[in-house]
Amino acid sequence: MRKIEREQNTVGIMINFYCGKKHKRKSSLCEECGALLKYARERLENCPYGEEKKSCKKCITPCYAPEKKKRIRRVMGYSGPRMIYHKPLEWITHLFK
Ligand SMILES: [Zn+2]
Repeated sequence: MRKIEREQNTVGIMINFYCGKKHKRKSSLCEECGALLKYARERLENCPYGEEKKSCKKCITPCYAPEKKKRIRRVMGYSGPRMIYHKPLEWITHLFK
């Protein structure tokens, strides 16, 4: 799997987790989170660094529009620490079922 694809999956898992907890969604993302995921995936797909890319934490600034950056940060800030307490694998399988 390409690095970009892996990152896209990770973002998807984070947003799914966030939406499930914050917006009480179970099987699908709400409109807002769905749009955010689509945006994040597109940004990754168009990442100028490609396979050489560093962590998005470092290169998120020039890539994301300010308003989207705020949202994705909120998602990461929420999901990141909490997902450690859940089984990440469950989310991965959940996502691709
Ligand atoms: Zn949501």
